[in-house]
Amino acid sequence: MNFESLGLAPELVRAMADVGYTTPTPIQAEAIPLALAGHDLMGGAQTGTGKTAAFALPVLHRLAKAGPMRGPRKPRALVLTPTRELAVQVNDSLRSYGKHLRMNTATVYGGVGMQPQIEALRRGVDVLVACPGRLLDHLQQRSADLSQIEVLVLDEADRMLDMGFLPAIKRVLSHLPKARQTMLFSATFEDSIKKLALELLKDPRQVQV
Ligand code: AMP
Repeated sequence: MNFESLGLAPELVRAMADVGYTTPTPIQAEAIPLALAGHDLMGGAQTGTGKTAAFALPVLHRLAKAGPMRGPRKPRALVLTPTRELAVQVNDSLRSYGKHLRMNTATVYGGVGMQPQIEALRRGVDVLVACPGRLLDHLQQRSADLSQIEVLVLDEADRMLDMGFLPAIKRVLSHLPKARQTMLFSATFEDSIKKLALELLKDPRQVQV
């Protein structure tokens, strides 16, 4: 099993070689083909399993298929994370896996000024990585526009709920197109997560490691 046989775009296969990953981890091997086929996913995975690439590679594959992007544009993929640290990590992974693609990413989280984030959003973003609370601020002042989102990822959904982000997540969801692919990753599956998954996911495939 290698990254090419999962059906990923050549730019991504090359990036995997550059970062030195030769073999997909179990969650990558399971999740990537399902995500590329367009399915919604419910992923049970702890940190350290390679779950970031499991959702990042399918997101980037979609951008690669669309060809080079030019000019200011609205985000086509949104990754929600519970913390600033995770947002930064996911963004770093997206940038390294997407290094052979022409695409922009941006991060949006609280505790820092709005202005640099507003400017980044204005320059044009393909993949937005955001913590729910600050993203809501941007939506309220119309510096973020989620009308073109094709893929939504909830990373560490259990932690987001533990931190009380459910109301913010629900409000963010009301800004997203209904026709989209959604992937939810969580280390645990309490009833609250199952309920959210039922609301969010359409005919999801489950992947578990
Ligand atoms: P994650 O669970 O996404 O936080 O990833 C855990 C660690 O595994 C990160 O340091 C990744 O860089 C690394 N990693 C992810 N996928 C692979 C792979 N297929 N082969 C080797 N290392 C990987």
